[in-house]
Amino acid sequence: MKKLIAGNWKMNLNKAEIKTLLGDIKAQLKDSENTDYLVCPPYVYLDMVVQGLQGTPIAVGAQDCTLNDNGAYTGDISAAMLKDIGAQFVILGHSERRTHHKENSALISKKAQKAHALDLISIICVGETLAQRETGQEQETVKQQLLDSLPNTATSHNTIIAYEPVWAIGTGKTASPEDVQAMHGFIRTTLAQHFDGPQNVHILYGGSMKPENAKALLATPNVDGGLIGGASLKADHFLAIGNAA
Ligand code: PEP
Repeated sequence: MKKLIAGNWKMNLNKAEIKTLLGDIKAQLKDSENTDYLVCPPYVYLDMVVQGLQGTPIAVGAQDCTLNDNGAYTGDISAAMLKDIGAQFVILGHSERRTHHKENSALISKKAQKAHALDLISIICVGETLAQRETGQEQETVKQQLLDSLPNTATSHNTIIAYEPVWAIGTGKTASPEDVQAMHGFIRTTLAQHFDGPQNVHILYGGSMKPENAKALLATPNVDGGLIGGASLKADHFLAIGNAA
């Protein structure tokens, strides 16, 4: 399976910085034969990034969507709007949304269903907190999040799983390749309860992935790519991770 390296820009960068980043990515992108790339900018820059990456193999996605189609939902962005401006992917259930916006797996499942109806590929994020890992509840937590977040519209073509241990996101702490291998294998087994072809589902690792640790993490069995936060804001770091893949 071709590895997917996905950049989650979160609420970072301004217009001028994005122009520079896109220019750098385009100038430095070599052969992407073994790696697929995706970037997920903030909503307001999506259109600009879709235009800026035209003619390149880099896909564009959003960091969230709402479950309503249109109407009186001030501040919301629908999956249809994302599709309209040329986004192909949407991240759902990132731990920052689960924490700051109190999103639960039932809501994420409904959002994913909406995304699938519009042919958007959903990247569904799951992961345990440090307290859950320290008390041996990491697998049970992730299993529950998976089973509750996956709608029955999910297939190996329209759904990607990102395993992101909450304690590793933006902290500089990375899960060890052994822990990642154990969890990704467990996720693959759990997916067999939901998908006909669980072996075809991309399972990404996310949590302080950077050029220095990417090779070991991406060589780990059942790691089909990475969801990258901080390191995706610099073209050389982002592409170095892609080259490691
Ligand atoms: C993320 O937010 O998805 C993430 C993995 O962030 P970072 O790479 O900065 O830990």
